[in-house]
Amino acid sequence: MRTRKTTLAAIATAASLALTLSACGQDSEGGSEENSGSTKGATVGISMPTKSSERWIADGNNVVKDLESKGYKTKLVYGEDDPDQQVSQIENMITQGVKALIIAAIDNKSMNNVLQQAKDADIPVISYDRLILGSKDVDYYASFDNERVGELQGSYIVEKLGLKDGAGSSSNGPFNIELFAGSNDDNNTRYFFGGAMKVLQPYIDKGDLVVKSGQEELTKVTTLRWDGATAQRRMDDILTKSYKSGKVDAVLSPYDGISIGIISALKSDGYGSKSKPLPVVTGQDAEVASVKSIIADQQSMTVFKDIRELAKVASTMVDDALNDKKPEVNDTKTYDNGAKVVPAYLLTPVAVDKANYQKALVDSGYLKESDLK
Ligand code: BGC
Repeated sequence: MRTRKTTLAAIATAASLALTLSACGQDSEGGSEENSGSTKGATVGISMPTKSSERWIADGNNVVKDLESKGYKTKLVYGEDDPDQQVSQIENMITQGVKALIIAAIDNKSMNNVLQQAKDADIPVISYDRLILGSKDVDYYASFDNERVGELQGSYIVEKLGLKDGAGSSSNGPFNIELFAGSNDDNNTRYFFGGAMKVLQPYIDKGDLVVKSGQEELTKVTTLRWDGATAQRRMDDILTKSYKSGKVDAVLSPYDGISIGIISALKSDGYGSKSKPLPVVTGQDAEVASVKSIIADQQSMTVFKDIRELAKVASTMVDDALNDKKPEVNDTKTYDNGAKVVPAYLLTPVAVDKANYQKALVDSGYLKESDLK
């Protein structure tokens, strides 16, 4: 039997956990975590990686909205790009009795123990956007076709340089390209880079594209935590060391925040004038700063992933899993996390540049025209 002392201790622990959690997270209904066991009204834990990028803020809000519209309560926490903090936030949510988890991991390999705890508590886990590796306790994966993201970026470069029409070997080429990839602890990174290199590598092999820095392998071009300032420093360094002569014609950038850093480094080096135009620079996420940069003819393109749809997929997966319904998936082959092939629902990314941003982003209601002024 529980003594009064332990009960009080348990209450104190729960209260302090609740405090910790509300200090770094958001409750949709502030009230008690208890729920009757019926799934409606149950609390779903949502763990997002960082507030330093617009997309994850919008992801969190979208998932909360969708789950609430289905009758759930939510707890939304952000790990501020610190894997340990993310793990302890998830542990807290499990202790507090969430009935399902939606997780966009910071470090895809740091989750094993906490997912075991989720499993023990019979909590379904949806890996959101980024696949969690090394654990069989990931139930479903909701994401985009991540390889396609990279293909869109690579193809854009090929098209804009006219390489398909043989420009590389003509008097205009060969062209200089530099390569950037995302964080090495994010599983998406190798899909984005792999997709892009599938398109670019043949031109590098032919000599139509030249990586003057010599930094070509994924391990040499990653950007820890997708940090724009880190990318800016690396671009500065490349320009100083490898472009004493010649100019950069294209930069493969995996994400808008990185693209903005790269463009800053290029501008500091005198790029952006008639005689020294900015290179083709790719991106991803259709963040406001980058769409503005596209409109101003600086960044060339971004890859738009409609995260409103992703939130719908993830919240429907939760609702189905909690109601003994098999969530809909459209890929059961691609995403092997090392412990199992995780059934996935993948959405389609879209390449966006100055020519179609209005239709793709504004007319679709994703961004407001006034945000882009
Ligand atoms: C996401 C991208 C995002 C990147 C940085 C990736 O896992 O798929 O959309 O640009 O993280 O936040």
